[in-house]
Amino acid sequence: MPKKVHHVVRRTGTTLESPVVEIPVAEDIAGVPGIPQIEKDVAFYSREYPLESQNVEKAADREWSWSVYTPEVYEYRELHEKANAPFVAAAATTGEIEPTAEPVDRDITEDIRRKAYELGFGDVGFTRYDRRYTFQSKKRWVKFPGAICVALEQDYAQTQSLPSLEAEFAHFGTYETENEQCLALADFIRSLGYHAQVHSPNDNSSPFLPMFVAAGMGQLGANGQLLSPHFGSRARLAIITTDGPMTYDEPVDYGVHKFCQECLVCADRCPARAITRDKVWYRGVEKNKLIYDRCRPVMSTYEGCAVCMKACPIQRYGMKPVMEHYVETGEVLGKRTHNLEGFELREKGYFGPGELPSFDRSLFDFPKGTKDEWLFAEFKDKVEDGNGATPEETAAFVKELRAILDKGISTIGDE
Ligand code: SF4
Ligand code: SF4
Repeated sequence: MPKKVHHVVRRTGTTLESPVVEIPVAEDIAGVPGIPQIEKDVAFYSREYPLESQNVEKAADREWSWSVYTPEVYEYRELHEKANAPFVAAAATTGEIEPTAEPVDRDITEDIRRKAYELGFGDVGFTRYDRRYTFQSKKRWVKFPGAICVALEQDYAQTQSLPSLEAEFAHFGTYETENEQCLALADFIRSLGYHAQVHSPNDNSSPFLPMFVAAGMGQLGANGQLLSPHFGSRARLAIITTDGPMTYDEPVDYGVHKFCQECLVCADRCPARAITRDKVWYRGVEKNKLIYDRCRPVMSTYEGCAVCMKACPIQRYGMKPVMEHYVETGEVLGKRTHNLEGFELREKGYFGPGELPSFDRSLFDFPKGTKDEWLFAEFKDKVEDGNGATPEETAAFVKELRAILDKGISTIGDE
């Protein structure tokens, strides 16, 4: 039985020439624009428990990941890091660069939008840079008040092969292109007479997703990813901040928040059972929560995993067909089909609807926290073992700790 349409969202296409996309939102999944949140709680958590980058907080497992890659993934990741590092390093100092012209002294929103599409971005939005989400280690780094949110789609066909090395080419290759495009867009903003700071997707200043939602570029899916009206979660996100005058966008209700509870395909298909089926209130926001310690080892071991991206109907078929199908039938397009839900995991085989792999418990026993926290936890275990640490172990521990302290904590990397 067809459902009543509550409202229709009209969104600019993925190029300046593309037609506007119209997405119907059924009455039973209409909610609030953006995401349900309690402002005073978001402010409280941001003040009392500021966020920190995974590059810092989870440094131990980021380093450990390299030890479980296949030789092919290892080799490709090394090549990627080498190719990407200069862009990430260049982005880090963009806030210091002075404009190259006198300010044009007018609203520059449309100039930036046009340039972003010209450079190849598939969507662009404008909002206030929300400092409540800034990572503690980046608080002094962030300079300007206006945020330009840019999304770059990764290859469709490669993405459907997740999890695979082929899909990792799409994932990391898109970051390389995006970093370069962001630097070019920042140059353009400086030529209009304003500052521009590039927040690389590989050295985030904050989680970018809340700002993309605030700019109306999609909503948060149960899989923890931005579901864009154009490419679902198949996009890589970056931000450029500026002091130039811009007109900010508004959040939009695409119906995603409630639709996800009708769908839950990502939660059903996650090999690690890492996505909660029920929404919880977390740091003032209502969402399905990803359990990091379950996801991480599977993601690292199995070519980036991302079954939660592959099996999302909005990624696979597009938001418009999925929402139209829901209005017409009340059903989730592709749910319980092999086409949507099937995936293959290296050495484990193929898993169709209703089937999931099992893993040895030892897979989930991996280094946690910062590098020195993990090293200390290991040492403590040895001391508490009853036998105590041997002089050799103590010497090795001191040596390793000294190396970590001398080296400092790596703040650059990407996932
Ligand atoms: S990446 Fe894989 S393990 Fe992690 S949440 Fe997605 S489907 Fe689950
Ligand atoms: S798979 Fe379904 S529940 Fe998960 S993010 Fe996509 S639409 Fe939402």
